[in-house]
Amino acid sequence: MTTTPHPLVTRARQLADDLLAPHAETVDQSEVPTGHIAAIKRSGLLGIGAPEAYGGSAAPASVARETAEILSGACCSTWFVQTQHHTPVATLVKGAPPARERLLGPMARGELLSGVAYAHLRAYPRTPVRVVRERGGWRFDGTVPWYTGWGLNDVMLLAGVTDTGEALFAFTEAREQPGLRASPPMRLAALTAARTVSLELDGLWLPEEAVALRAPYERWAAEDRPKTVTASPAVFGVTEAALGLLDDDTAGPLRTRLAEVRHRAYTLADEAAPHEHLDERLALRLRSYEVMRAATTAALVSGGGRSMALNSKAQRLAREAMFLLLQGQTAESRRAHLSALARIPD
Ligand SMILES: Cc1cc2nc3c(=O)[nH]c(=O)nc-3n(C[C@H](O)[C@H](O)[C@H](O)COP(=O)(O)OP(=O)(O)OC[C@H]3O[C@@H](n4cnc5c(N)ncnc54)[C@H](O)[C@@H]3O)c2cc1C
Repeated sequence: MTTTPHPLVTRARQLADDLLAPHAETVDQSEVPTGHIAAIKRSGLLGIGAPEAYGGSAAPASVARETAEILSGACCSTWFVQTQHHTPVATLVKGAPPARERLLGPMARGELLSGVAYAHLRAYPRTPVRVVRERGGWRFDGTVPWYTGWGLNDVMLLAGVTDTGEALFAFTEAREQPGLRASPPMRLAALTAARTVSLELDGLWLPEEAVALRAPYERWAAEDRPKTVTASPAVFGVTEAALGLLDDDTAGPLRTRLAEVRHRAYTLADEAAPHEHLDERLALRLRSYEVMRAATTAALVSGGGRSMALNSKAQRLAREAMFLLLQGQTAESRRAHLSALARIPD
């Protein structure tokens, strides 16, 4: 039986085939073009999880995962810039009404693209970004180590920890302003194209209406944890793309492993409550890395010396895979990953 794909899956596929994949090697060596961002904004994909009442599609998680696989497999840098947007959208949906009413509509309709600066919260009790009350609003000080999409996105959701131990998320424009300075875009082993910077915050002041979410750190961390132990659809997307470079004899067994890990990870995501089976989710995340490493390594080997050319798809996918191993890494997932790597038999 065949089912008609969700319209956003069809649109993601068209974008991938017509625009992202044909230019992926050039983009990898430069930066995500504004034309790619404009196409993403027009596509409806930025509102994939947003409520219909605000102009979004409220699509099921399975559709969001499938589009993420398609985009990441076509051009990981473009996928990474646009994927930042979905955390701010989800934060607005359950967050404070003033920020929601001002921003959720334009973000759901793709008029505004948001980045997010929050992974540093996971370093708690270290607080790279501190927030204190000042003049009826909030003052931010410290360093955001990673912020992707600088110069490409319109707004950013910035997180810090208050002196009373709350996680606080507030929106501001994604540009230099008093109290906010960006480094030059980083040159990285992969995804340089996604324009990642670090941000120096030195008395950045944001009004109360900018705040989207304020919650005791422990409550926020408990909700965040499932995200960092769950397998990423982008890992499956990059794996699929690498399998496309292999002959059937090599790809076949890897495809079977991919299907099995993906099925188990997505079944858990759909059928268990978010805080359940965290160990099993993490084990599947690590297995997804193993399949990705095998597939991207096989693609390199299969291409021979030509794989080393900077315009070879195999080396790009291998470097993107290297990045995905670290994306969203926490102390817990690093420990588990290192111990899994140390156990691999000869
Ligand atoms: C190219 C790129 C772009 C990114 N873009 C964004 C973005 O736009 N927005 C965003 O929010 N994040 C972004 N990130 C952050 C990304 O998700 C983090 O890489 C990931 O969360 C791991 O963080 P880390 O490298 O800072 O910490 P890691 O060094 O991987 O450490 C993980 C955690 O363990 C703790 N830790 C560090 N060292 C030790 C140690 N020796 N022993 C025990 N614990 C330790 C840290 O406090 C940290 O919380 C980006 C990262 C990269 C590489």
